[in-house]
Amino acid sequence: MENTNGQKIYQPGEFIMVQGEFGDAAYIIEEGQVEILIQQPDGTEHSVGTRGPGSIVGEMAIIDNGQRVASIRAVTESHLIEISQDDFSRYMNGADPILKMIVQVLLTRYRDTLQRLGPPINTKLLNVPFSNAEELEKSAEGTDLAVKNIKMVHDLKAALNENQLFLVYQPIISLDQTKICGFEALMRWNHPERGLVSPGEFIPVMEDSRLIVDASKWALRQACTDLKILQAESGDDDLFMNVNFTSEDFNQHDFVDQVENTLNETGVSVNNVKLEITERLLMDDPEQARKALEACVEMGLGVALDDFGTGYSSLSYLHAFPIGTLKIDRSFVCRICDDRRSRELAKSIIALGKSLQMAVVAEGIEQEAEHILLRSFGCEYGQGFFYARPAPLNEVMNTVKDWTLPTA
Ligand code: C2E
Ligand code: CA
Ligand code: CA
Repeated sequence: MENTNGQKIYQPGEFIMVQGEFGDAAYIIEEGQVEILIQQPDGTEHSVGTRGPGSIVGEMAIIDNGQRVASIRAVTESHLIEISQDDFSRYMNGADPILKMIVQVLLTRYRDTLQRLGPPINTKLLNVPFSNAEELEKSAEGTDLAVKNIKMVHDLKAALNENQLFLVYQPIISLDQTKICGFEALMRWNHPERGLVSPGEFIPVMEDSRLIVDASKWALRQACTDLKILQAESGDDDLFMNVNFTSEDFNQHDFVDQVENTLNETGVSVNNVKLEITERLLMDDPEQARKALEACVEMGLGVALDDFGTGYSSLSYLHAFPIGTLKIDRSFVCRICDDRRSRELAKSIIALGKSLQMAVVAEGIEQEAEHILLRSFGCEYGQGFFYARPAPLNEVMNTVKDWTLPTA
């Protein structure tokens, strides 16, 4: 039986898998207790242990699609999350660290099972990478992390299907005119049990599992729809919307067509939408990124290079890719008042942007002093808690028209 969360539910005594049968899925135990049974040559069953919440069972089969080496039976009502061979291959292809951890789980458990059943095994022969207690402990921590990640992927799939994701918008201010010129769309996840989960936690998991592709498609559509509303509310048709994208989005062969369709369907003007990308995206597959970006720019979209000043910040990127906006990373902006080097760096990035006819946005402005300094350096745009925190559409709608610079 399957519940609405896509979990499989087994009643006490029910078999989850049977030794000898071919299998193509593993399971994470979310709730309940299961028993692992090995059939002896004489036909009798021998229980080799039980597993509870947080454990993985049946993992051998997703590696080799082979026969189950043991039977698994529910002891109490058990709720399981399936990891299909497809899911597993995706981890494998992406050379995800989770993969390494699952393999470690496999090896540990394999050895464990063999040790229970037979004479002590030669770990050298098995090439098991754990030689001491400390390493075993580390592997247990890794297993916990892997299970947590897999569970989060499962929950994120539900989040996409059940509208648990939403967008908040943070204004981007023209420092010269002190007015809102545009917004950055930022994703939020309202988890049914955990409440708000930070994007710093769930976006990397979405990237690793490629769920980000569907999430980005949804975000672009939602942000465009909301931009129309904000333009109408403010009477300012020039308001723009920045949306974040990752390498996984750009790896989709139809990425540019998808973007074009969304823009057409939502009726926003292409010139009012900017793609925010990071250097990582440019480095992952430079040729593909260049082609996709050029097609986007040809269409009329803007491209903003996010977190500029961190990473490699290679000047060759600015030359090789059609970038229209630089976003100075918050790590400099928050130090410009006290640290001369950060101040000089910010100044140089602003000068560089100007000479290359790029717009520059300073991110993470939290204080009036930073605002004053950046404006005096000729920085065109600012974004940060000093002006406004990211907020949902209904709140932003109330302020978009009458926003004024906060007074100290
Ligand atoms: P980011 O793209 O650099 O977004 C700016 C982050 O800085 C946001 O964090 C924003 O809330 C925060 N911020 C803005 N002003 C200030 C300030 O004055 N002080 C401080 N301390 N922080 C400020 P958030 O929303 O938590 O997002 C974190 C990161 O998660 C983003 O960094 C981006 O890398 C990623 N992310 C968020 N939404 C999306 C999305 O829709 N798609 C993708 N691919 N990534 C997203
Ligand atoms: Ca961004
Ligand atoms: Ca940023």
